[in-house]
Amino acid sequence: MQLHDTAARAAREFTPVTPGKASVYLCGATVQAPPHIGHLRSAVCFDVLIRWLEASGYRVTFCRNVTDIEDKILRAARAEGVSSWIVAERNQRAFTWAYDAVGCRPPDIEPRATGHIPEMIVLIRRLIEGGHAYPGGGGVYFDVRSYPEYGALSGQRLDQMRPAEDAEEDAAKRDPRDFTLWKAAKPGEPSWETPWGPGRPGWHLECSAMSTKYLGPMFDIHGGGVDLIFPHHENEIAQSRAAGDGFARYWLHNGLLGLAGEKMSKSLGNSLLVTEVLTRVRAPELRYYLVQAHYRSLLEYSAEALEEAAAAYQRIERFVVRAAEVLGDAGPGPAADELPALPVSFRSAMDDDLGVPAALAAVHACVRDGNQALAGSAKAAARASLTQVRAMLDVLGLDPLAPQWAAAAGSGAGPGAGDRLRDVVGSLVKLTLQQRDAARARRDYATADAIRDGLEEVGVVVEDTPEGPRWELKR
Ligand SMILES: [Zn+2]
Repeated sequence: MQLHDTAARAAREFTPVTPGKASVYLCGATVQAPPHIGHLRSAVCFDVLIRWLEASGYRVTFCRNVTDIEDKILRAARAEGVSSWIVAERNQRAFTWAYDAVGCRPPDIEPRATGHIPEMIVLIRRLIEGGHAYPGGGGVYFDVRSYPEYGALSGQRLDQMRPAEDAEEDAAKRDPRDFTLWKAAKPGEPSWETPWGPGRPGWHLECSAMSTKYLGPMFDIHGGGVDLIFPHHENEIAQSRAAGDGFARYWLHNGLLGLAGEKMSKSLGNSLLVTEVLTRVRAPELRYYLVQAHYRSLLEYSAEALEEAAAAYQRIERFVVRAAEVLGDAGPGPAADELPALPVSFRSAMDDDLGVPAALAAVHACVRDGNQALAGSAKAAARASLTQVRAMLDVLGLDPLAPQWAAAAGSGAGPGAGDRLRDVVGSLVKLTLQQRDAARARRDYATADAIRDGLEEVGVVVEDTPEGPRWELKR
């Protein structure tokens, strides 16, 4: 299996620290707001990596953190007039719901930054003792000049590097490029006691402390979005290696989901919140959309591309559902470790740095063969295609008959149930709105308002626009 390692700037054969096992750390969300679909891309890309590692015979340990203390969370809490704990807790639940909704397996370990202050204090102490960090003004800073490799991951030389983002705030820094390990306490903010005074962790520190706590001082794969390469991952490497840990052996970065077009085209709003997008497409369709591009590519969002992805998923789904009906085979599908069921073209595509576009081409080719076999009543051939298609889809988390998607359809009644349910709800809301219009027409505003309030109570928000009433589900 070849994986593109950002640090090596090349694809490298994957050889784990411990044969047969793979340890993966992924930088998770900073939980200051509910997730939009951009947040899900990283989760879905790494979910496919984990599924492929498992399908290839590795026992995977997957750790993804939650950043539950950070400037943005504190700002959101102040703006709302509640404590930062409440903002973090609520949004962490929203993220967990969204990850589940698109079929991402939960991590084996999901540590929160605020639960690991003692580990961070130990790491800071090691860095100070080794001459790589220094306290000042109530904070503690990493001395970037003490670590000659600083800048290697992002390909920068220290003398050309811009100052750290908080350079102006901290007069105690010896060098503007030094980054903050520990922030001195400010009035009204949560803080913890340390040997250097009360304060709270800098963002970068938590990932070094938590990844090595759960995966060991040296582990296999560290992942995140390309936007994290600098400064976040550069700083993680500096902290951990300067402290003497081997740290991650492969650095994988997913491309971002570009939202520029959407931001320009409308008043931004919340149209790309996961909860909103899932009123327009079904969860496996959204997953297909996020999975189909290569994980390292930039995926520029457009409503058309999302619809195309949904249509492509439906083509696969129609074959699987129909073949399963005809052949009387809608079981849970082959286990992921039954590799012989996977076509060679699929396997080699996935082994080539998770080449999902080529792997999906193999799926669609197999669907075409299967449809032909069904049309010609060639049952054995159709069954072979169905088995292969479902085995491939399982690796991508897209098997329409998997319990995940049957459950997501709301009734366990199988594929298509979610569609039907949505159609029924749509018709009911339309009927209700017609009654409201009729009430308004006879100037019975009390009834019209009662109808609107009743809809809102069951989670249907109605907005009156010049083109007529629009409604959406709130969460
Ligand atoms: Zn991180």
